Amino acid sequence: MDRSSVYFDLIEAFGQPGCAICRLALRDVQRHLDSLLYEYVNEPETNDTFRRMRGLCNAHSWQLRTFRGSVLSISILYEAALDEVIRTIDQATVIPSSRLGRLLGASGEMSAAALAERLEPQAPCTACTMLDEGEARYLRLLGDHAADRRVEHAYRASEGLCLPHFRGALRAANGSENAGLMIMIQRAIWSKLKGELNLFMDKYDARHAGEPVGDEGTSWQRTIARLAGEWNAFGQRREKK
Ligand SMILES: [Zn+2]
Ligand SMILES: [Zn+2]
Repeated sequence: MDRSSVYFDLIEAFGQPGCAICRLALRDVQRHLDSLLYEYVNEPETNDTFRRMRGLCNAHSWQLRTFRGSVLSISILYEAALDEVIRTIDQATVIPSSRLGRLLGASGEMSAAALAERLEPQAPCTACTMLDEGEARYLRLLGDHAADRRVEHAYRASEGLCLPHFRGALRAANGSENAGLMIMIQRAIWSKLKGELNLFMDKYDARHAGEPVGDEGTSWQRTIARLAGEWNAFGQRREKK
């Protein structure tokens, strides 16, 4: 993807509801999952990746269920991951067919911990990698070009970035002009949202029952999205248990 397409993607996404960067990152993941299921499902490389990943992360695994007509493809990919997990157990144990208590031998706890380690994903979730790379690309563009007339205009008219992406945008800001502008725009958008939320809370109060509720009716949901990011836009970013 060259820079010009990122530029126009960002301007277009600012015109849509929600955080523009969440939206673009989610679009990229959707395309990635789609191509996994419909183009690359039978490629040996995909099979090998699924074995090493132990399947996609929790969030992206469940996202696969939203693809219509993909049950067989999902089965093929997860059969490979499941086969790898069973193979790993067999390789780590002396008598695979024996009862669990004997499999782990005399140094039970150590062996169990070592097996847990081997069962960890040996490769990151490809959809999470896609999210990270897309995010970095869009944040870099914004950080470099926030003061560009068209970018600035689109950003001002948008619902603003979510908090995680605003932090990312500040870190990616190239120079004080870009940074200052982003802070000003984002603060104005969030102040307006807070006003809507306050109005909604007032109307929710019993004393105002019956008063018509306007756009502020969804302000609590939009506030969740603006602080946490859009649903599923951050994949499964957790340390291992
Ligand atoms: Zn976001
Ligand atoms: Zn993931």
